[in-house]
Amino acid sequence: MRQSKPVILAGLLLAAAWMLRASAQSGTVAGAALFEGARLITGDGGAAIENSAFLVENAHFTRIGRRGEVPAPAGAARVDLTGKTVIPALVDGHSHIGYMKHLTSGAVNYTRENILDHMYRFAYFGVAASQSMGSDFGELPFQLRDEISAGKYPDAARFLTAGRGLSPIDEISPDNMRQAANPATTPEGARALVQELVPRRVKVIKTWVDDRGGAVKKLPPEIYRAIFDEAHRNNLRVAVHATALADAKDLLRSGIDVFAHMISEVDDEVVALFKQHPNVGVLSALGGPHRAVYAPWLDPVHPLILETVRPEQINRLQARFPIRDPEQRARSQSAWDRLAAGIKQLSDAGVRIGVGTDGGGQQGDQFIGWTMHAELENMVMAGIPPAKVLVAATRTSAEILGQDDLGMVAPGKSADFVVLDANPLDDIKNTRRIARVYLRGRQVDRDKLRKGWAAAGTGN
Ligand SMILES: [Zn+2]
Repeated sequence: MRQSKPVILAGLLLAAAWMLRASAQSGTVAGAALFEGARLITGDGGAAIENSAFLVENAHFTRIGRRGEVPAPAGAARVDLTGKTVIPALVDGHSHIGYMKHLTSGAVNYTRENILDHMYRFAYFGVAASQSMGSDFGELPFQLRDEISAGKYPDAARFLTAGRGLSPIDEISPDNMRQAANPATTPEGARALVQELVPRRVKVIKTWVDDRGGAVKKLPPEIYRAIFDEAHRNNLRVAVHATALADAKDLLRSGIDVFAHMISEVDDEVVALFKQHPNVGVLSALGGPHRAVYAPWLDPVHPLILETVRPEQINRLQARFPIRDPEQRARSQSAWDRLAAGIKQLSDAGVRIGVGTDGGGQQGDQFIGWTMHAELENMVMAGIPPAKVLVAATRTSAEILGQDDLGMVAPGKSADFVVLDANPLDDIKNTRRIARVYLRGRQVDRDKLRKGWAAAGTGN
């Protein structure tokens, strides 16, 4: 198709404007910048470095130390962060990207524009990467993953996709997210589906082992074992949605890599099995039952939610949460109590725990980005100390997802970090007091994003 002269001219002008903008920020794009004075939580689990200095060169951290110990190379920009606290950018191990929009949630919303909007939201909230868990389909997720990684959308968080999940056939229905899944009906068929994902360069494969309260014939062991075996032959990890204790035990014996959610209860036998399989990761995803009984950020509405979510969506949620029906409330409370006790027990036993939010989930109320901060509070309320929760949400989540260059402020890692106005070790809710976010060494233009959402009625 031929383009008219005005179109070409507009394109050239846009390109020129982009280059000017990039060069104006070249101090943090390709050049060097020394950040000084912040309290630095590196993600290694050790004590924070007070009055720190860290150097970013070519979008990566290169030197870390105390102020005065890290010299600035000639021409480096200097950024004073006195009084601030820096943490590695957060990593969300479990989300469903592209489905939620306004009051609706569904495959009809799964467009380039909506996926990108979600990745901007993650970035706005200080999340460097989010792992979409088996609800993606078509070519689009792979294209966008690669375009974002290549720096085409500098304000967007990394979109990690597992492609289409592998599901038992009767889990798949047009109105749930498993609409994207491929049915795994035989061990050979399941192996072929894993093979399809290999050239897509996914790191994680998603599957479901859950009878949904008897509504679904759950994936049989011979099929999930075939999935594990085929994935491991190809150096891939398998994340499983499973909630029942008995299933968790068999999955641990069968070679599971990642529990996509916290399991519904924990006993000594499952703890022992985790200890026998120390590389298995558990993503928290505690939000569901807790949100039903505890959602103080909806009254009054937290400013970060006001900035990013449409009023009608907030109203709907305020009408729903916290749940008022006493019976339903009691059920959610006891589900939360069990989950909280279970994750604390696993954490104390040294199990590898990362953070997953199920953000963008089917309920339509798991606000993209916000859920990460709510989840950190959930984990602290479950009894895990803030320092440990921050490691879970950064280094451990990155390790579980195979994102080796994320999750820490350390030499060689991608310069993805969040500048906070207050210390989250004092109060985990301080992760919400975001002053700035840097991804790939460049400051995310949060003002532009916020204004764009406001112009569209707040929200995408
Ligand atoms: Zn999920």
